[in-house]
Amino acid sequence: MGGTIASSNSTGENGVKPSLSGEELVKNVKGLQEIADVETISFRLKPSADLTFSDLTSAATRISEILDSDADGVVVTQGTDTIEETSFFFDLVINSSKPVVVTGAMRNPTSISSDGDLNLLEAVLVATSSQSKEAGILVVMNGEIHLAPFVQKTNTQNVSTFKSPSLGPVGWISEGKVRFMLKPAYRRIHLPLSNGKEPTIPIVKSVLGDDGIIFKALREEDIQGLIIEATGGGHVSSSVADFVQEYGKSIPIILCSRTGSGEVLTQTYSFKGSEIDLINKGVIPGGILSSVKARILLYLLIKNEYNLQRIAESIQQWL
Ligand code: ASP
Repeated sequence: MGGTIASSNSTGENGVKPSLSGEELVKNVKGLQEIADVETISFRLKPSADLTFSDLTSAATRISEILDSDADGVVVTQGTDTIEETSFFFDLVINSSKPVVVTGAMRNPTSISSDGDLNLLEAVLVATSSQSKEAGILVVMNGEIHLAPFVQKTNTQNVSTFKSPSLGPVGWISEGKVRFMLKPAYRRIHLPLSNGKEPTIPIVKSVLGDDGIIFKALREEDIQGLIIEATGGGHVSSSVADFVQEYGKSIPIILCSRTGSGEVLTQTYSFKGSEIDLINKGVIPGGILSSVKARILLYLLIKNEYNLQRIAESIQQWL
């Protein structure tokens, strides 16, 4: 689907951009042909922030069709900037026991020590492993295996950027061998892809001294849901709490934390703007989900026309 792993510079201008086909990506990966018969599909050639829900819907449909055939698994290559979102989208909508592995690269193919070939080889290895079955969508980068609901990009450039801050990787690849150490114990949610109306769901980050200016601006917009990336355990300024009161009972608002790991609180603090106050105003605690992952889940729930109560119940499955 593009990204750094598929980027090069054929025009001589400064910088690289997505330009390599699937065929070009796999052709020089040493050892790949020995571990799998790989068929490539050049699906999109985009920087990953430009991928849309429509792209993801088409990709998931295509992947599901492939998994229904005699393929043993699927590897998706794409830009690393949004892997944490796309992999979670696939995790929610692809209902197959066969492995689906997402990977990318931090160093493009023209740079020294590009990581793309190794990531691709190891992603294919993981996709061919019987241990990867029933594990949900996996992200393989830098020799580690991560679960889609938890993985996050944590560094702008380092090849070890992908972490699952609340639990760590569930396995790794060692000398070409796939090692799983942990298996998911949480209940996965599966949602159908739906043709429902396209919802708009902004993410608003809370900051010190927040006067709620973004919320004032949002009053003018037609939004169907909202994610609050709150400070600490799930707290906003008292001005923001006033705005939340206006929206909380009419549209789904999910409370997440800007800290990057851990569950949001539900029953510890009672000041204005605290998690207890916000929940009383109608906000749904987002549990362990990061703000960008909560947005993906809420998008699919709204697309499937879930009402507020069912949305709250579904999100709370993550607690
Ligand atoms: N830096 C990004 C990448 O790793 C660009 C993108 O996400 O498309 O691929």
